[in-house]
Amino acid sequence: MKYVGAHVSAAGGVENAPLNARKIGAKAFALFTKNQRQWRAKPLTDESIAAFAHNLDEAGISPTQVLPHDSYLINLGHPEQDGLEKSRDAFVDEMRRCRQLGLRLLNFHPGSHLNKISEEAALKRVAESIDLALEATDGVTAVIETTAGQGTNLGHRFEHLAAIIDQVEEKSRVGVCIDTCHIFTAGYDLRTSEDCEATFAEFDRVIGFDYLRGVHLNDSKPDLGARVDRHESLGKGKLGMEVFRYLMNDSRFDDIPMVLETVDPSIWADEIELLYSLQQH
Ligand SMILES: [Zn+2]
Ligand SMILES: [Zn+2]
Repeated sequence: MKYVGAHVSAAGGVENAPLNARKIGAKAFALFTKNQRQWRAKPLTDESIAAFAHNLDEAGISPTQVLPHDSYLINLGHPEQDGLEKSRDAFVDEMRRCRQLGLRLLNFHPGSHLNKISEEAALKRVAESIDLALEATDGVTAVIETTAGQGTNLGHRFEHLAAIIDQVEEKSRVGVCIDTCHIFTAGYDLRTSEDCEATFAEFDRVIGFDYLRGVHLNDSKPDLGARVDRHESLGKGKLGMEVFRYLMNDSRFDDIPMVLETVDPSIWADEIELLYSLQQH
């Protein structure tokens, strides 16, 4: 079964996210559990937590199909001690917020080396950061997202994610999220079903589908290999629709949240309907 939705707004409180998901006919969704551009956040109140659970239930969405995204400020591979510690503390706080909401996943970008340490050293730091977070929390899986590789960002090669997973101790609580825009602009072609076949075979060989916990469904403004992170509405970018038809009909993408982060929220309901219409059985 496919669970498709979008990264919905949690403005006014996390409890509003399931309501926003319901309005667009989503069976899954992503959200920020705090303001993604600030370090500090007020703790979740008991009322907010209870309302979130109630609204999730009303929307008929399973907690397992919610894929929270962490703050953009966090860099778990930060080359400097101050930045690293701040990031690690904030990440643990985000894991705990997910746990409080009864959620099982936390999606994040691996981090950046900022040209101050090697890629290899930064990847090792990310793995250590994950280990520390998993030790300090329970019940939530750290889900590493594939990135476009803009600037000094890690995560644009499947090998980066594999290197992180390889060094994480508690492998049962680490996973990955494929972002179609990111991997395409990172250089993995997805424009034809043959391209998808080859790219996902490569993903399986290097990382393994066992680790796949979510997908971000985005078309791409930049071209193949541009290493620029700019999402586009489905079918309106350089990717085209074939990859989405492929994903909707491949059982390796069953039973995980598949979430739109496309640029026009006013058409998310249509995009979700379109995606389901691509299913061939
Ligand atoms: Zn992301
Ligand atoms: Zn994404």
